[in-house]
Amino acid sequence: MAKDSRYEVGKEDNLRVENRIQFLFSALYSLTMKIGVLALQGDFSEHISMLKKIGVETAEVRLPKNLDGLDGLIIPGGESTTMGKLAVAYGLMEPLQQFGKSHAIWGTCAGAIFLSKDIGRDQPLLGLMDIKVQRNAFGRQVDSFETDLEIDELMKATGTEYPYHAVFIRAPIIESVHGNAKVLCALEDGRIVAAQEGRLLATSFHPELTGDMRFHEYFVSLAK
Ligand code: GLN
Repeated sequence: MAKDSRYEVGKEDNLRVENRIQFLFSALYSLTMKIGVLALQGDFSEHISMLKKIGVETAEVRLPKNLDGLDGLIIPGGESTTMGKLAVAYGLMEPLQQFGKSHAIWGTCAGAIFLSKDIGRDQPLLGLMDIKVQRNAFGRQVDSFETDLEIDELMKATGTEYPYHAVFIRAPIIESVHGNAKVLCALEDGRIVAAQEGRLLATSFHPELTGDMRFHEYFVSLAK
């Protein structure tokens, strides 16, 4: 007798459910984690509220001593030149570079620029991620846009299968990835908008401006 296919659970479904369960367990673990957000400039408070929503303890980082006891750090969007100048003025460059050698750091938009090794011009950079970034690659403020992205790694890790809605505001693109850095997501035309190198993460867009918590959950899972 033919089996009723409506009740057949495919291997892929099983895997997705397993990933989701595993992920939810790890989300419970994140209740013990403390993630800092660099709070010199830009939209750090939006990241703080996202982290609070997923139950993570947070801290605003303005001085080197604020890095003590953190499991990971988010560098928000804003203006990378201003952020760099302030980081130099507050003596944060070296402590942030040291922190990034053994901890997870995620840069969003201006934060991704600040995290990178090369942007083809002179401004203070942490140089932690082996990526080349081009600032304001999509044009001016009016060229800001939103789009849905299929990010396989993110969907796999969170056991979900719907696209990620991404907001781009005077966004950079990741021109190229080198060494151990890998592409996490590219637009249909091939332009790279998310990359990962071990526990370092860079996104051109702003996951703190949507209601979708998956990117923050994914980052917290890297910070363990
Ligand atoms: N255009 C900004 C810069 O170059 C980044 C914009 C943003 O973070 N939304 O630093």
